[in-house]
Amino acid sequence: MTNNHVTVLEIDSKALEHNLNYFKKKLNASTKILAVVKAFGYGSDGVLVGDFLKDKVDYFGVAYAQEGIALREAGIENPILVLHPQIVNFNDIIDYKLEPTLYNFKTLEAFLQLADERLLMNYPVHLNFNTGLNRLGFWHSDLELIIAKLKESKHVKVESIFSHLAASEDLEEKEFSINQINNFAYIVKQIYETLGYEPFLHMLNTSGVINYSKAQFDMVRVGIGLYGFGNDDAETAQLKNTHNLYSVISQIHLIEPGETVGYNRAFVAKAPTKTATVPIGHADGIPRSLGNKKGYVLVGGQKAPIIGNVCMDMMMIDVTKIDCKEGDQVIVFNSQQMIEDMAYASETIPYETLTAISSRVKKMLK
Ligand SMILES: *Cc1c(COP(=O)(O)O)cnc(C)c1O
Repeated sequence: MTNNHVTVLEIDSKALEHNLNYFKKKLNASTKILAVVKAFGYGSDGVLVGDFLKDKVDYFGVAYAQEGIALREAGIENPILVLHPQIVNFNDIIDYKLEPTLYNFKTLEAFLQLADERLLMNYPVHLNFNTGLNRLGFWHSDLELIIAKLKESKHVKVESIFSHLAASEDLEEKEFSINQINNFAYIVKQIYETLGYEPFLHMLNTSGVINYSKAQFDMVRVGIGLYGFGNDDAETAQLKNTHNLYSVISQIHLIEPGETVGYNRAFVAKAPTKTATVPIGHADGIPRSLGNKKGYVLVGGQKAPIIGNVCMDMMMIDVTKIDCKEGDQVIVFNSQQMIEDMAYASETIPYETLTAISSRVKKMLK
């Protein structure tokens, strides 16, 4: 990959492995692990992460077919669950041996028809049931019809049945979550009684594993936890940071009181000021809302506030009190704390801060 943009996201493989082992210890030895590598491995690189984890996990999970194809093209052979496939991609899904989630009658019928046309036998598919998130999934009341359709087809085999919690991180919603788990178990019981075989089961994401590990069933789907975030400070402290975003100082300016920095002259110097220009901007995933001292980076171990408006390709920081020069390293983040600070300062959560890191940023696994 040629990429001369010096801003780099380093993915820490030791931290990934530590985090994976942290979750493994919380689970029964027989529970399978699906590593969620959708959205470019939460803003890093799904292929690099997948390649590193392929011998350490059972399954990979992606949202869309294209993300699974990228893993296959990199030679990754684990089963890959596509959580939110689109009917137009079903042929690709089959060509690349990806395993689709079927979540409504439209996807079920389309896949059964294609499986028939392509003479597939026992092709693995996964059924998603809605137990309260109301995002994707069959309803409990769909059961009879689903079973009837599946029973008359030899072309597909239901590999697993799953559901997804709506508020697994929020213990104030414990009653709701336990209800979801119980409803899921009830749906499964009926399927087991009528389908004629027993697909494996999964329900928990990262905070589900942390809060409801009794409901681990046969597999768990861990995403954000692999990348260093639990659902509270105590859990996050047990995990290691995987995403380290580095840049450099391109240029330093010494400006006089009354001079301004950046578009719309948003920063006005009140005193002699030393500023540094850094080659990372909102097109790389730095929210524009972090400008005007809402966000900071580290230079020489010290906090340097972002001043003025974040530009598309760069931003300016105040390094008046920092001994630094052109070419010095800038740490945009290298700890969970810095990622959380950045997320909260831009009124979002680490999930969004991480996945916002754009494809222009070079990614490396170290
Ligand atoms: C994204 C996703 C996950 C992973 O969730 P985390 O909170 O990141 O662990 C698990 N299951 C489904 C269905 C998802 O969409």
